[in-house]
Amino acid sequence: MMEFVNLRFHLNIFFDTSILMKLNRGLKNELKNSYLLIGFLFDFFIFRPMKIVEMHPENLPALVTEKAAENQSFRNFIHALPSKQIDFTLDVIIPEVEKNIDCTQCGNCCRHLQPGLSAEEISILASKKSMSNEDFKNQFTAQEKGTMIQYMTARPCVFLDHNICSIYESRPHSCKDFPYLDEARIKLYWKRVMEFYKICPIVFNTVELLKKEVGFNSSSA
Ligand code: SF4
Ligand code: SF4
Repeated sequence: MMEFVNLRFHLNIFFDTSILMKLNRGLKNELKNSYLLIGFLFDFFIFRPMKIVEMHPENLPALVTEKAAENQSFRNFIHALPSKQIDFTLDVIIPEVEKNIDCTQCGNCCRHLQPGLSAEEISILASKKSMSNEDFKNQFTAQEKGTMIQYMTARPCVFLDHNICSIYESRPHSCKDFPYLDEARIKLYWKRVMEFYKICPIVFNTVELLKKEVGFNSSSA
């Protein structure tokens, strides 16, 4: 496995030092990023099938504790990597992880998070409970301190039914977008990523695969 990681880095170094040095800075960066992506895709799909760690969310707390020191070290490691390299790598990893994890067997985000709601979403959710907006707000939401943001307070969420969202098609945007891994320059949001790593098997597996793909050596952590 390690050889393939090294091969990718060699490819990147080759392109960086030979062809790209002849080009102007803007074009150089674009091409460099393309070669980084091509090298990564070649490595990822041709040489190394992805290994998802199958797990129940209840196993996460113990694994997270076990990996606390390693994760601190990884945080420093990715801090030194180019944002685009991390984003490109995640663009390939995330769909594969999502394909292999069945959210209907989990529902853990709906047990832990308190989704933010727009006024329109409050209205939709209130109608699902056959309540007025005001009653729904009073019973199920609160306002974030110092802001106008409303969020659902109940944990687990009142719409969760045996790991499944009972209003799936009408769920709020903050539920649809979870776990928010497709942000550009994701390393700027690393603290949040690692918060969700503690509760979400998709995030956990994504971060663990990212460690491998960027050549992080966990034994030196
Ligand atoms: S509205 Fe649905 S998706 Fe959102 S937290 Fe509640 S159960 Fe989960
Ligand atoms: S998004 Fe993550 S925490 Fe939520 S149901 Fe899917 S795997 Fe579980």
